[in-house]
Amino acid sequence: MENYLQQLNEAQHKAVINTEGPSLVIAGAGSGKTRVLTYRIAYLLEKGIAPWSVLALTFTNKAAREMKNRIGQIVGQETASKLWMGTFHSVFAKILRIESEKLGYPSSFSIYDTADSKSLINSILKEMGLNKEKAYRPGTVLGRISAAKNDLIIPAVYARDPQRTSADAAARLFRMPEIYQRYMRECRKAGAMDFDDLLLNTNILFRDNPDVLEKYQTRFQYILVDEYQDTNFSQYLITRKLAEKHKNICVVGDDAQSIYSFRGAKIENILNFRNDYQGYQLFKLEQNYRSTQNIVNAANSIIAHNDKQIKKEVYSQNEEGQKINMFQAQSEVDEGFIVINDINDTRLRNQCQYQDFAILYRTNAQSRIFEEALRKKNMPYKIYGGLSFYQRKEIKDLLAYLRITVNPRDSEALKRVINYPARGIGKTTMEKIENLANQNNLSLWEVITNPALPNTGFNSGTLKKLSSFARLISGFMSQAPNMSAFDLTNEIATQSGIMKELHQEKSQENQTRIENLEELFNAIREFSDERQESGENNSLVDFLEEVSLLTDQDNDKPDDLNKVTLMTIHAAKGLEFKNVYIVGVEEGLFPSSMASATEPGIEEERRLFYVALTRAEERVTLTCARNRYKYGELTFARPSRFLGEINQEYLNIPAESRSFAPTGKETGSFAKKKRFNLKDDSAQEKKKFNFSGKTLQNNDSPSRFNSLAPGEQSQIQPGVIIEHERFGQGKVLHLEGVAPNIKATVFFKNAGQKQLLLKFAKLKII
Ligand code: ATP
Ligand code: MG
Repeated sequence: MENYLQQLNEAQHKAVINTEGPSLVIAGAGSGKTRVLTYRIAYLLEKGIAPWSVLALTFTNKAAREMKNRIGQIVGQETASKLWMGTFHSVFAKILRIESEKLGYPSSFSIYDTADSKSLINSILKEMGLNKEKAYRPGTVLGRISAAKNDLIIPAVYARDPQRTSADAAARLFRMPEIYQRYMRECRKAGAMDFDDLLLNTNILFRDNPDVLEKYQTRFQYILVDEYQDTNFSQYLITRKLAEKHKNICVVGDDAQSIYSFRGAKIENILNFRNDYQGYQLFKLEQNYRSTQNIVNAANSIIAHNDKQIKKEVYSQNEEGQKINMFQAQSEVDEGFIVINDINDTRLRNQCQYQDFAILYRTNAQSRIFEEALRKKNMPYKIYGGLSFYQRKEIKDLLAYLRITVNPRDSEALKRVINYPARGIGKTTMEKIENLANQNNLSLWEVITNPALPNTGFNSGTLKKLSSFARLISGFMSQAPNMSAFDLTNEIATQSGIMKELHQEKSQENQTRIENLEELFNAIREFSDERQESGENNSLVDFLEEVSLLTDQDNDKPDDLNKVTLMTIHAAKGLEFKNVYIVGVEEGLFPSSMASATEPGIEEERRLFYVALTRAEERVTLTCARNRYKYGELTFARPSRFLGEINQEYLNIPAESRSFAPTGKETGSFAKKKRFNLKDDSAQEKKKFNFSGKTLQNNDSPSRFNSLAPGEQSQIQPGVIIEHERFGQGKVLHLEGVAPNIKATVFFKNAGQKQLLLKFAKLKII
C-alpha cells in the first residue's frame, strides 16, 4: 500500500481525513478537488468502511472509471469494484431496476435516448395535429419537458404552474401540459424511462416508499459528489434525502465552472448546502497544480469579470510558462490549418505526443474543419460527441432488436425495426396499429400480439406479416435466458435478416456497416468478460443500460491512446491536456449569440471560457477567423469580447497574425487592447455589408462601376467591402505588389475568391 496521503498539501489532507459530517469543498479549477474525493474514498476504505456503503457520484462514467482505478491502486481493485460509483444516471438506473416493481415498471425497462424521445414527441404532435405548427419543434418540446422533470414538476402540476404556462403561452406552446402528459403516458406504456425520468422516478420512489428510502439511507454511510455546481434540483434532492440519516456527505465543486444551467443545473445547490447542513465543514483549496502561472492568472483575470461568484483565491507555483498565444485566421478553413500546423510544430519542437493536444470548441459543428485539416495531414485524432458509434444507424437498428427482446413494450425500438429489413409492413399498417394502441391504451407490441387483432380490419396478408414478426421476436425472447449476450446478439443479427440485407448489396458503405456491427459484437464480448471478472452483472439488459447512458467523454476505444482530442468545452470538464487550442473565439460563437442577449447568459459563457482555459497544463492557444459560414452564409466574425477581458499581460500575439489585423491598418505598433475592441468597426462593417444581398443600400444603375483612380486605390485595404461589376459584393482579404500594379485578393459571396488588378477592376467601395 502506498502512502498516498503524502501526495496531498495541507488543505487537501484536512479535507481527506475529516470524513465525518457534512463537508463542502469549494475551490478553483485544478486545485485537486477530484483528487481529494478520490483519496477520501481510499482513506475510508482503508479505515475499514465497506465499499458498498460508499456512494460516489461523478459527472461522467469515464471519471468514475478513473477514480475507481486510482482507488483500486491504493486499496486493491477488488475492493474498489464494489463501490457504488458512477454518474447519477447510471447509479440510480441500477437502483430503479432493483426497485422497478414499486413504480410499476418492468425491471428490464428501456432507457429512451434523446432520439427516441424526440421521435415519440413527433408522433404525439402528429396525433394532436400540431406537427405542422412551427412553434412545436420536438427539440423545444423535449427541452421543456426535461426542465420540468428536473424541477420535479409532474404534468398535473405543470398545468397549474403559472410561470410555466405563461412562458409556454409566450412561445405559442399552449398545449404543452397535454403533450407532457401524453409523453409520460406513452413512456410508461412502453416500459421506458428517458434520462430525466431516471432522476425523477428515483425521487418518486423515495417519496412514496419510506422503507425503500430507509434501506438506501442506511446502506450509504458516506456520500460524495464531484462537480456539485452542475447538479440540478432533482439530483440535489436525491442526495439530500439519502444523506439525511448519516449526514456524511461531501460535495466538491467550483461555482466558476457551473456550465450546465441550460440543462437545469443550479448554482443555488451550493448555497442550499450551507443551509441544509448547519455546522458543515468548509474546505478551501487554493493552489492549482495543473497549470502554469500564466494560465492560472489569465483564467483569474477572465472570471473576475463575472459579478456572481463566490470569492476564492487560485494561484500556481508551477513555472510561469508561456503566454497565451492568439491567432486570427482569414477564414475558418485557415483556422483549421493554423491550428493543425501549430500542433505539428509544437509536437516536434517540444517532443510531445499527439495525445498531449486538445482542440476545444463551443459547438460540435465546428469540429468538421479541424477533422478535415487533420486528415489532410494524416494526423491521428479522436472526436467526442457528435454522432458517436452507438448512434449510427446500423448500430441503433441492431440495438433496437435487442431492446425489444428484453422489453417488447419498447415502442420506439419496435417502430424502428418492424419493417427493417423490409417485411412489407408499411406506413398505413403502422398508423392503424398506433391508433389501436392509443384507443385501447396498449403498447404497439400488445396490439400486434393481441388475439383480437384479426377482428380489427387488417387483411390476411398483413396479419400474416405481423404475426411472423411477432414470432421472430418471441423466438428471441425465449432464447434470451439461455444464451450469453454475445451469442444472442449474433443470433439476432442473422435471424432478423440484418446481416443478409447488408451483404446483399456489396457497397463500401455496407462493408463499413458490417464492420461496425462486428465492432458492436466485440463491445458486448468485452463488456461481458470485464463484468464477469469483477463479479458484476453482465446480462444484455446491463449492456443496453451502459450503452444508453454513455456520456460525451465515454467513447474512448483502446486504440484511441495517442491521438489529438477534439471535443466541446462542455465535454472537457474535469479533464486536462498539456496543450489546449480554444478555437472560434468570436462574438456570436463564443459567447454564442443566444447567450449574448442576457447578462446571466454571458456570465455562463464566461465560466465556460474559464473552464476551457483551465484545462491546459502548459500552453493555451486561442484562435478566431475573420470570415465564417453560418447557416450557409458567409459572415464576418468579430473577435470575442473575452479576448479583450484577459489581462493583456498574459497574451501573446505573434507577428504573423498581425496581417490579419481587423482593419488592415494597424502596423507593428498597434495596441493589443484596441485590436480586440472592435465593436465600432465591425458594427459599421455589418451595416455596410449585407450578405443576404436583398437590401443593398445603393440602387444606382450599374454604370456607377468604374476602374478606380490611384487615390481611390489606396483606400482598398484588407477588410474593406467592395462591390464589383460582375461578382457583386466582396471583402478584400489581402493585397500584394506595389502601385500601380497592386493585386487584391477578394472574397465574393457569390463568386468565391478572386484576384483583381486594381488599376483595371471595375468596382466601388461600399
Ligand atoms: P477541476 O476543477 O478541473 O475539476 P480539480 O480541482 O478537480 O480540477 P484535480 O483534477 O483533482 O483538480 O487536480 C488537478 C491536477 O493536479 C491533477 O493532475 C492532479 O493529479 C494534480 N494535483 C492535485 N493535487 C496535487 C498535489 N497535492 N500534488 C501534486 N499534484 C496534485
Ligand atoms: Mg475535478
